[in-house]
Amino acid sequence: MFGGFVFQAIWVWADMDFDFLIIGGGIAGVSCAARLAGSGTVLLLEAESALAHHASGRSAALYEPRYGLGPVVALSMASGDYFHSAAGVLSPRGMMIIGKADEVAQFEADAASMDLVPIAFDQARDIVPILNPDTVAHCALANHAWDIDTDLLLQGFARQARSQGAEIVAKAPVTAIARESGGWRVTTPQGSHTARVLINASGAWADVVAKMAGVAPLGFTPLRRSMARIPAPGGHDVSRWPMMFGAGETWYSKPDAGALIVSPAEEHLTTPHDAYADDMVLAEGLARYEEMVTEPVTRMLANWAGLRTFSPDRVPVIGFDRHAPGFFWLAGQGGYGFQSAPAASQLAADLLTDADSVIDAGVIASLSPHRFA
Ligand SMILES: Cc1cc2nc3c(=O)[nH]c(=O)nc-3n(C[C@H](O)[C@H](O)[C@H](O)COP(=O)(O)OP(=O)(O)OC[C@H]3O[C@@H](n4cnc5c(N)ncnc54)[C@H](O)[C@@H]3O)c2cc1C
Repeated sequence: MFGGFVFQAIWVWADMDFDFLIIGGGIAGVSCAARLAGSGTVLLLEAESALAHHASGRSAALYEPRYGLGPVVALSMASGDYFHSAAGVLSPRGMMIIGKADEVAQFEADAASMDLVPIAFDQARDIVPILNPDTVAHCALANHAWDIDTDLLLQGFARQARSQGAEIVAKAPVTAIARESGGWRVTTPQGSHTARVLINASGAWADVVAKMAGVAPLGFTPLRRSMARIPAPGGHDVSRWPMMFGAGETWYSKPDAGALIVSPAEEHLTTPHDAYADDMVLAEGLARYEEMVTEPVTRMLANWAGLRTFSPDRVPVIGFDRHAPGFFWLAGQGGYGFQSAPAASQLAADLLTDADSVIDAGVIASLSPHRFA
């Protein structure tokens, strides 16, 4: 069943229901199930009644591979081939950063880090006609940013997983985890399952799941980020507008099915829960956006929030726990879980099956949980 799979040396083989049991039905867990399904039996358990109920159902859906810290950029860049060859998953968007006169240092740092080219205000206003000449002093543009059809991506991975025999079960909250000879016993209200390897892809609940399994938590922090959906400003056709960021990521906006989503881009520390937007934070964020445009926000069509969960160094954690044989972390994707998913899931599968990875060894080390303990 495992082919060349070399597991940790002290492992004792025993009959188990599954080779791999994944906790979490967001993009991390589902993409991992797809990558693993050809290498062993896979069960994925999701607490909610549908996949992608939490962070994976609430993202801004952007693929900008230069966004994030080095190891994240490496994974996002390595995901490019998958994205560009998956029919219909990406569509062109582009990115613009704008700044006020007194934000020049932050503006220049942001533009340089994501490789945007400074452009004149008039050129920027030809693209986004609502830019405010009284407040916008700096503009930069790039075309290397795309919209991700996140549902298509996630359902594509789910289909791939199921077509190779993986079982994906919703409404299955894991309530207890016990170590057994040769693996783990995982309990849900419907019953229990055993597996040789447990994969923790539970997003904001990564430390909760670890503690349930008797594994030391790594210190993940769920940070809330809110989003407002507003009508197209001034009735403009926004479909070709780029995603816009205020310098220092103090807000961002992005066209969304004929409307505009605007985020205050906050990072409010919270606990794992079904997140919802904070009215005051939304109002303050919308005010920061409004200052830079000529069209006021007159109403909100909808709002929501999600949790972007970070490890202590803001780099994802992918690898076997050093102290708990058979416990694999796939967590801490922060604000980059979609754009890095194709490569992150392949790396996870390669590590889980002891296969070679195309990812640089230094990057793999910087993603490993061993860096913490
Ligand atoms: C506002 C916002 C904007 C974002 N924009 C982008 C973007 O533009 N581009 C990008 O790449 N990323 C973006 N992200 C980040 C991206 O959405 C996340 O990194 C990604 O969705 C994380 O996926 P996940 O599978 O790890 O977590 P989740 O989607 O949260 O999935 C974890 C799952 O585990 C389940 N679970 C937890 N505990 C248990 C248990 N005990 N038993 C069973 N199941 C359990 C949960 O129910 C949940 O469904 C954004 C996030 C937010 C909030």
